[in-house]
Amino acid sequence: MNMTIEESAFHVIKKKKDGIYQNELWKELEIDSRKCSRIISKLLEEGLVTRESAVSNGSRTYLIKANTQTQPSYEMLLGAHEFSPCAGCRDACQPETCPKLTEWITIIIKNEILSEAQNP
Ligand code: SF4
Repeated sequence: MNMTIEESAFHVIKKKKDGIYQNELWKELEIDSRKCSRIISKLLEEGLVTRESAVSNGSRTYLIKANTQTQPSYEMLLGAHEFSPCAGCRDACQPETCPKLTEWITIIIKNEILSEAQNP
């Protein structure tokens, strides 16, 4: 599988626990500094890396680090574009007989059946 240049850059950045100077990154990726700046901007926009001013070998540059702060994932709380009824629920919990949970699961199953029928 071919990686995009952004994926390659992120892969290199992730490997360096203490970060990598931007002027080392573009050399390692064998690209020019302008292209490297564009890639870093994109990774910053996506929240995948952090950037701070730094000096390396007497030159001003940036230290780029992989963003280790995990983003909250709501994937497990979503089914068929519906939030789980358990999110924030304060009812006395009996999942085996909970009508709200049953309804949510039923919607998910119906949507999956519909989706399979439309895309066999
Ligand atoms: S199973 Fe029902 S009662 Fe339990 S947390 Fe989920 S919605 Fe609330």
